Amino acid sequence: MDDCLFCKIIAGEIPSTKVYEDEYVYAFRDINPQAPVHVLVVPKEHIACADEVNESNSIWVARCYEAIAKIAKAEGLTNGYRVINNCGEDGGQTVMHLHFHLLGGTWLGMNII
Ligand code: AMP
Ligand code: ZN
Repeated sequence: MDDCLFCKIIAGEIPSTKVYEDEYVYAFRDINPQAPVHVLVVPKEHIACADEVNESNSIWVARCYEAIAKIAKAEGLTNGYRVINNCGEDGGQTVMHLHFHLLGGTWLGMNII
């Protein structure tokens, strides 16, 4: 996608602080962190949001979760963490490329599930 911020970050056209990369996934630190650890885990395939996940592309979601487990260990999140996926306008999604917020490093509280 020509005009997608995260596609540009994955391609290296916009700088990011990479924490993990494999064939399927690129992960980097959120520019506006909401917790001591705040990593965005992004599939290298452009899928706009959770609403566009289906039988033929769900492997990208699985690969993201496999990466999340690895990143959480590497970041020392031994006491747990939260994964958030915003979808669409009501979900507060601002970048229309599927991504998972990995948050941790402190007790995150009980608000918003
Ligand atoms: P969302 O609101 O779920 O779409 O999340 C988008 C996230 O991307 C926000 O938490 C932003 O802080 C983050 N973000 C936006 N631009 C950048 C960037 N250039 N590098 C890192 N994170 C970014
Ligand atoms: Zn994209």
